[in-house]
Amino acid sequence: MRPTQAVIHLDNLRHNITTLMEHTASRSANRRRPLFCVAVKADGYGHGVCEVAEIALELGAEYLGVAAVSEATKLRSQGVGGPILLYSLTDPAEFATIAELDLAPFVADSEYIAKLDRAAADCRRVVGVHLKVDTGMGRVGCRPEEARDLASQILACGHLRLDGVCTHFPVADTPNSSFTRRQAERLAEVAAELRAAGINPGIVHAANSGAVIEYPETWFDMVRPGISVYGYYPSGDQERPLELKPVMEFRSQIVFTKRVPKGTGISYGLSYHTEKDTVIATVPAGYGDGFNRLLSNRGEVLIRGTRYPIVGRVCMDQFMVDIGPEPEVQTGDTVTLFGPDQDGPDAEEIANLTGTIPYEVTCSPTARVPRVYR
Ligand SMILES: *Cc1c(COP(=O)(O)O)cnc(C)c1O
Repeated sequence: MRPTQAVIHLDNLRHNITTLMEHTASRSANRRRPLFCVAVKADGYGHGVCEVAEIALELGAEYLGVAAVSEATKLRSQGVGGPILLYSLTDPAEFATIAELDLAPFVADSEYIAKLDRAAADCRRVVGVHLKVDTGMGRVGCRPEEARDLASQILACGHLRLDGVCTHFPVADTPNSSFTRRQAERLAEVAAELRAAGINPGIVHAANSGAVIEYPETWFDMVRPGISVYGYYPSGDQERPLELKPVMEFRSQIVFTKRVPKGTGISYGLSYHTEKDTVIATVPAGYGDGFNRLLSNRGEVLIRGTRYPIVGRVCMDQFMVDIGPEPEVQTGDTVTLFGPDQDGPDAEEIANLTGTIPYEVTCSPTARVPRVYR
């Protein structure tokens, strides 16, 4: 197997899920936790949708969350039978599959609801939907004032069931967010309004990772963590009360080393010249594997417990590391690009260097990078 791999540390995944479950159990006196929905969209944030789902369900997660019907198709074909929330709206051409796979889609407008009901009727199925209310994200979701009429419409549909009412938070990853608290209040008001109208709102849910970590008042009946399950905080702003362990280790191997004199240019554009006589190692991973080219002359890697600088431009399939004039490392040594090792870079460090967030970093290893499960 090519040495460039994404090793998925399933023990860390288990640790994170258990930690988050225990944390959400802390709110109530009888230590009953809210329902737990693990986001496995985007191929489990790059970790593998089926493998993550299997562990989440084994540990007692009640729901899985996907963004694409194709992801749910994959889960069902692997025998996953439980509830799967579909977080994104989709093309009506996929409604029959939603009904046949018994998915739980978010809905937010009248036309979508009517079309989904017709497709469910054609399949002779009943689809359980979750009404998405926009309380401040500015994305998909009805206005809170519309929720009651849409809920009534759902109840009047012969082939839909109202299973939940939910919202999403744009700034729950910031400390002491009164905006997030206000959103939760709006959702609670909507649920109360439905109940007052004799409508059972079903499961009320809102909390993404940021809210799971800091805002117990947003947990309602179910939480929907994603990034924290994979071992990262959603941002650098919040306090870090929970020990989360990175699950993905992006690694490769030294395949070649060469002693070069001072002043040798390295890689495309010759953007780096060696400052002294040294040894340059080549690592067979590049932006074609999802290793960001912005790490050229900036990032570091971990080899045998020591950090070494990336020198020159990251190529499509390879990059170079300066391992110093008297290297202790050699061809065949493992190179960690990011991962759980405290001494080396993690996805958050890579994100900070490349102007993005850990989410995008763990999603970035491309299809040619095999996922290896430990
Ligand atoms: C992705 C997603 C989540 C999880 O968000 P994290 O920030 O990764 O915890 C929760 N809810 C919805 C609707 C999502 O799309």
